[in-house]
Amino acid sequence: MTVETKQAKCPYCESSDLTKKKRGWTITTGIFGMNKMQYQCHECGKKFMEKAAKFD
Ligand SMILES: [Zn+2]
Repeated sequence: MTVETKQAKCPYCESSDLTKKKRGWTITTGIFGMNKMQYQCHECGKKFMEKAAKFD
């Protein structure tokens, strides 16, 4: 059995140079979704939610 490690990629520029972090509490959304993971792309600087990331 092999475990596939999927690499997340930026949906904007397809870079895999990403920082993953918890989104946390925000003034706009309050605690809604605060445990969701968010990525920030080092290549283009955009932030996006984990479900928006591309996986190969
Ligand atoms: Zn990017």
